[in-house]
Amino acid sequence: MNSAQGGADRSHPAAADGRIPPLLAAAFAGGGEMGALLREHDWTASPLGTPHRWPATLGNAISTMLASKAQIVVFWGDELRAFYNDAYRPTIGDKHPAALGRPAREHWAETWDVLEPLLRGVLRGGEAYQARDHHFLLDRHGFVEDVYFDVSYDPVRDADGSINGVLCICNETTGRVLGERRLRALAELGSELADPGDVGSLGRAAAAVLDRHRADVPFGLLYLRDGDGHLRVAGVSGAGIAAVELPERLAEVAASGTEDVVATADLFGHVPADAAGEALVLPISATNEPAGVLVLGVARRLPFTDEYRTFCELVAAQISRAVGKQRAYEQERGRAAALAALDLAKTNFFANVSHEFRTPLTLVLGPLEDLLADPALPAGYTQPLTMMHRNAMRLLKLVNTVLDFSRLESGRLAAHYEPTELAGYTSRLASTFRSATERAGLRLTVDCPPLPEPVLVDQDMWEKIVLNLISNALKFTLDGEIGVRVQAVDGAARLEVTDTGVGIVPAELPHVFERFHRVPGVRSRSHEGTGIGLALVRELVEMHGGRVSVTSQVDVGSTFVVTVPFGSGHLPPDRVADAAGDGTEREPGQAALFVAETARWTVGPAPTVPTVRTSTGPGAPAPAAAGPEGSAARSPGPSGSVPAGRILVVDDNADLREHVARLLMPTWEVSTATDGADALRLATATAFDLVLTDVMMSRLDGFGLVAALRGDPRTRYVPIVLLSARAGSAEEVAGLSVGADDYLTKPFSGQELIARVRANLELGQLRNQIIRRLRALADAAVAVNTARSTADVLQVAARHALSLAEAVRVVVSAGGVRFEADAGAPPRSSRPSSCR
Ligand code: ADP
Repeated sequence: MNSAQGGADRSHPAAADGRIPPLLAAAFAGGGEMGALLREHDWTASPLGTPHRWPATLGNAISTMLASKAQIVVFWGDELRAFYNDAYRPTIGDKHPAALGRPAREHWAETWDVLEPLLRGVLRGGEAYQARDHHFLLDRHGFVEDVYFDVSYDPVRDADGSINGVLCICNETTGRVLGERRLRALAELGSELADPGDVGSLGRAAAAVLDRHRADVPFGLLYLRDGDGHLRVAGVSGAGIAAVELPERLAEVAASGTEDVVATADLFGHVPADAAGEALVLPISATNEPAGVLVLGVARRLPFTDEYRTFCELVAAQISRAVGKQRAYEQERGRAAALAALDLAKTNFFANVSHEFRTPLTLVLGPLEDLLADPALPAGYTQPLTMMHRNAMRLLKLVNTVLDFSRLESGRLAAHYEPTELAGYTSRLASTFRSATERAGLRLTVDCPPLPEPVLVDQDMWEKIVLNLISNALKFTLDGEIGVRVQAVDGAARLEVTDTGVGIVPAELPHVFERFHRVPGVRSRSHEGTGIGLALVRELVEMHGGRVSVTSQVDVGSTFVVTVPFGSGHLPPDRVADAAGDGTEREPGQAALFVAETARWTVGPAPTVPTVRTSTGPGAPAPAAAGPEGSAARSPGPSGSVPAGRILVVDDNADLREHVARLLMPTWEVSTATDGADALRLATATAFDLVLTDVMMSRLDGFGLVAALRGDPRTRYVPIVLLSARAGSAEEVAGLSVGADDYLTKPFSGQELIARVRANLELGQLRNQIIRRLRALADAAVAVNTARSTADVLQVAARHALSLAEAVRVVVSAGGVRFEADAGAPPRSSRPSSCR
């Protein structure tokens, strides 16, 4: 014992008179406030008597307890009288100091039913008890509270081995238990509200989570604003809780965005079980807009701490987030529905319009066919009427494609699957292209031996699949071969369309079956197309439970493969025709349209217009002279106001090329080219007075051609008129800004075309005259500089065809002025106002 303790002992009457044994005296002295309290306590009235009478075992236990920093209480004797240390004090709150030395039953009354069996078990059985996060109810701050402890109850044995006490080491874990429980609640809210659905399901899901956490939220009421701005109950949780109308005062919480506290009795007329007298009212907002109110009951058996309030606020924040998300979803759904409706309207519109187009087209095609079949048709009419017929057929095919596509989109393209001898049917379809492939100089190989069984296909759709693939092969194959093959492979009929064409670059392969996708800049027999064909093929094949794929190598060729399963298991039964069908196929109905379209890809350009000079390839005559002067010099105008000249017409559509040529031929000398590259070669080899070019063409398009012509000194000043199917001022501006002189939109009238050509020719010729004059002046100025006499000047004037006034001006300025050859060239895009 040190002196301080000795001093303390001496100052105490009991110690002084020797009534406190040294062990306890030391323990009390080193036991902090509780040690002092134990020493001061008047033990005379206690059945235990004063400390000197306490059993040694008790003394030892108390000594251990007081010396420990752990939360320890010793229950002693049959009455389980309590002795506890400083660390333990806070865990019993208001019970201290009254509980000291008193039977546990008195001060742990609220939890006695739980505590007594545990303590008596240790006392009687001698077996230690241990538990983590043990739940107790403790009234330590004026209300019965849910508390949690890690506990270890150990027997305290006397010298004779009997057990007279229980040493309880405990550690309060209420904060951690509540924290973890609340985190779980928030996590559940997060996951249950991750996909909030509509307002109703959001409210129900939130209420269901809160209901599983009644220990923290005995009841909950969620009010959300509806479309009219009224707050309506969206979710209710809690035992026996019914939705109640939100008091007016609380509705303001939603608007003000601040929290409030309400008496629970004011809400329900009574205080629900497990709830405290108050509830927290929290605003719910969605994307910073007031969106509702959340009322959370405060638990009766939990102190309303800052942590508790924070938890409630986090619940409200989770719900706010979900409401915001739900609103965003709803807006997105609304937008998607509006777009879907618009899409449907558009599809229906296309379907209706396409359908309507077919009637007038039929009325155009029918009489045209009658006229062409009439032996009395004057000879000169055959060619234009044939062209009209061919183009009306093409239009009908385009209309049919759009109609098919619209029907597919709107789900109105119903298939009717019939047993079909697919090899023979495909072979017949392929053969319809035979003369077209021959004309194109291509071999067509059809290898379609009979299949082991009929294939269920919609024959109309199969026809479209085959015709699209073969007509594409024809379009993109400039020489070599097209192969069509049908065979049975792995329980499916397999169609292969192979070509030795331009091929498709690997990056484009995944996209060719996408709607409207076209590979830019490839060589082909025609630049015409919509990018719908392969997308339609894919949809049609998929309607047969089949697949379509492509393999391709640039400049080697492409192979399109379609597989369609045998049998009917993959098809909707109500769409399958009687299996006992005879396997015969319909006559191809659309082949004529496809073949008519290919007709113009496979003939040489405009052979029927003898006066039109066509692109003649690299052997074309060399230019007599280059540049604007050369061109103008070789185009002496005939008498009259129409300027003469040579015109180059560039278009990849043979019919249009011929049509335009025919319109211009009576007045001008016309040459034609099939695309920009062809035109550039011609225009740099031969001088033209005007170039009239289409915009969309393969290899080199119209804009590219304009740029190339303007970049070449030989063609820099040639007037260029763009001819395009793309209407609109943006297109026109684009055309003019690359350096074209004029822009004409298809369809155009013959008169308009001629007027524009004439005006641009005149302008071009004027431009050339100005350039020539400027050059003459420049040359004259150089000559005057070296003149020695007036006679010399007059000679120069005569040689350069200058007027006297001009000669005088040249003489006056000759001292310092030098004319550059190109100085003062007129701006290229000056346009004849008469054309507007
Ligand atoms: P379109 O022929 O009207 O352009 P498609 O949907 O039929 O539309 O074809 C899409 C694109 O796929 C074509 O523009 C072309 O670039 C490419 N393509 C299709 N078939 C072939 C083929 N046999 N060889 C090379 N390219 C092809």
